[in-house]
Amino acid sequence: QFQAVGFIGLGNMGSRMANNLIKAGYNVVVHDVNHDVMKKFSDKGILTKNSPLEVAEASDAVITMLPSSAHVIDVYTGPRGMLNSGNGLRPWLFIDSSTIDPQTSRKLSATISNSNLNGERGGCDTPAMLDAPVSGGVLSAETGSLTFMVGGSEEAYRSAKPLFLSMGKNIIYCGGPGNGSSAKICNNLAMAVSMLGVSEAFALGQSLGVAATTLTKIFNSSSARCWSSDTYNPVPGVMDAVPASRNYDGGFATKLMAKDLKLAAESGKEVEAKTPMTFVAEEIFREVCKEGHGTRDFSCVFRHYFSGKDE
Ligand code: NAD
Repeated sequence: QFQAVGFIGLGNMGSRMANNLIKAGYNVVVHDVNHDVMKKFSDKGILTKNSPLEVAEASDAVITMLPSSAHVIDVYTGPRGMLNSGNGLRPWLFIDSSTIDPQTSRKLSATISNSNLNGERGGCDTPAMLDAPVSGGVLSAETGSLTFMVGGSEEAYRSAKPLFLSMGKNIIYCGGPGNGSSAKICNNLAMAVSMLGVSEAFALGQSLGVAATTLTKIFNSSSARCWSSDTYNPVPGVMDAVPASRNYDGGFATKLMAKDLKLAAESGKEVEAKTPMTFVAEEIFREVCKEGHGTRDFSCVFRHYFSGKDE
């Protein structure tokens, strides 16, 4: 039902997601401010455009995968933004997969549903927006096995499902606009705190003389077992093929984790929720950034427990 699909933000995640859409047979049109990544797509014969507006004018649905809320606002409402078309919008579906604050997702969704379409498309006469952040990281983006958390109208979610399924495996509807973004920041808050808990316990274990390999065996067959202990262990050498075993290169950047915790803290404030762990976790990940490790995988927080000490 979608002929042309626009994709904006061809970074670590977006380039791989766009490739999977291309593999699935969609007519993909792309844009990024980075001309080098655009060239990689144009070299493959993929149509590239110089602005978000031009992408929108050539697409039935558009997906954005950008660093943060400010970038998303710019791509949607900036001077060459997608919503800046004079005579109604061509895309009838906008999907934002960036991790951003739920308030921005809700505002954009309201603006879009109050806009007009340039003609009737896909059986609807008003455009719709879905906030659909992902979990899974670069490897899952590559293999098309991301988890999508989707907020927005159920009807829009149903029509977008084939698109999601060409980039992901688990597609979970979370409710109205902003609920995908809310679910994502809750997921990352829990992941941050569990990574800190496991790192702190391993660091203490090491200081008390228990080897990380021994503690890992115990955790993974006991009540402390979690993703941070059995899949993404933060201690170098304990597991193969995790960032900890390649000097924390690649993976999920510490600065992105700090950003997500800030979003959780701000959202918590807005609804007067108690979020003490969020504040502590944000502070620790910010310190790791200040120590110069902002672009390393967030599991490098394990090393933070030894900073300032002779290891
Ligand atoms: P990235 O920095 O690698 O990619 C972002 C891309 O957006 C870059 O290519 C950049 O040039 C482009 N961009 C920035 N501003 C733009 C603009 N105004 N117009 C067009 N293009 C613009 O980031 P990423 O790792 O791909 O992450 C993207 C989003 O996905 C973030 O919100 C992140 O939190 C989230 N996320 C990342 C991971 C991960 O493991 N990397 C996992 C889940 C979710």
